[in-house]
Amino acid sequence: MTFKQMNISEPVCRALLEKNYSTPTLIQEQAIPEALTGRDLLGLAQTGTGKTAAFAVPIIEQLLAAPMPQRKGAPRSIRALILTPTRELAIQIDESLADYTRYTTLRHTVIFGGVKQKSQTDELRAGTDILTATPGRLLDLMSQGFIRLDDVRHFVLDEADRMLDMGFIHDVKRLLPKLPPKKQTLFFSATMPDSIDRLAKSLLHNPARVEV
Ligand code: AMP
Repeated sequence: MTFKQMNISEPVCRALLEKNYSTPTLIQEQAIPEALTGRDLLGLAQTGTGKTAAFAVPIIEQLLAAPMPQRKGAPRSIRALILTPTRELAIQIDESLADYTRYTTLRHTVIFGGVKQKSQTDELRAGTDILTATPGRLLDLMSQGFIRLDDVRHFVLDEADRMLDMGFIHDVKRLLPKLPPKKQTLFFSATMPDSIDRLAKSLLHNPARVEV
């Protein structure tokens, strides 16, 4: 199986090949075709399995295919939100997005806590298609009016079990009602304790389940 055979578009295939992704990993082979259909996904996978491309590539493809929401005079709006527990993961995911989207016109931005917000809010003001965020900074910038999530159509909850372990589950639960109800949700966790299983069931509609 190749990315091309998965119907991934030429600019994205080219970017993946340049990263020496010649064949999809197991999680990618299972997750990408399902997620490309717009279906919700429950992924049991750890970092190191190729899970970033497993959620990022189908989102990029769907964004490329969808008409951009037009708001006169307004910058482009966030259409995909990726929530991840740590600053390091957020930066890594955004760097992968930079690689995967390099031959497209899609824009991506990352926000996380522990640093001044100015450069992050400047980027948000300029408009972005894909936002990668840690929960606390996202809620903070939302409450200050820097972020609108009305156009989000794809939502990734990454490392859900770590969100729980790190005490972010409360932030995540505060955020969920602020997302539009009609969206694709891709839910990833390395483990499935009861509380995560319940959260997954409450968020996902008829998900495809993939496990590596
Ligand atoms: P991740 O689990 O997304 O953090 O990916 C783990 C590592 O595998 C990263 O260094 C990726 O760049 C790399 N990787 C992901 N997918 C592929 C692939 N299809 N072929 C080769 N390397 C990959």
